[in-house]
Amino acid sequence: MTSKSRPPLAAAPISGHFAVVGAGMAGITCARTLVQAGHRVTVFEKSRGPGGRMATRDSEFGSFDHGAQYFTVRDERFEQALATASGLVRPWSANTVRVLDDLGQVVAASSAAGMRRFMVGSSRV
Ligand SMILES: Cc1cc2nc3c(=O)[nH]c(=O)nc-3n(C[C@H](O)[C@H](O)[C@H](O)COP(=O)(O)OP(=O)(O)OC[C@H]3O[C@@H](n4cnc5c(N)ncnc54)[C@H](O)[C@@H]3O)c2cc1C
Repeated sequence: MTSKSRPPLAAAPISGHFAVVGAGMAGITCARTLVQAGHRVTVFEKSRGPGGRMATRDSEFGSFDHGAQYFTVRDERFEQALATASGLVRPWSANTVRVLDDLGQVVAASSAAGMRRFMVGSSRV
């Protein structure tokens, strides 16, 4: 087969309509990336709402995020992506977590050392 009979893959404009199954973090990220690349995307989700394992649940005591409360950032590209979502997450120093005794005195606190962590949600904690 010669190069005349088949154009190189890079030369072929590829634009399609994709189905993404699941509106969890991975599915939504995949769908967004495809849309940013110029494709059409339909997301199919079997549950009532998006979020998957990090969805917000309703209870008789109010709503709460039952999945990921925090995550770590190891990749610079991920950090850049986070910068586009200001207000949704904020850096979290792990020394935010303290164990108090009955008198409210700090008896233990987690170390702030280690990798960068981000808290999901901006106003609940
Ligand atoms: C209690 C809890 C605490 C956690 N805490 C943390 C934490 O602090 N930090 C952290 O980094 N991670 C944490 N995690 C893990 C994190 O939430 C998950 O790893 C992440 O949300 C998974 O995302 P996902 O998109 O891969 O999968 P999922 O969130 O599971 O999404 C999959 C989606 O696909 C849908 N689906 C499945 N099958 C079908 C189908 N056939 N048709 C249509 N839809 C379908 C599901 O309903 C779901 O919405 C926690 C998880 C739990 C449960």
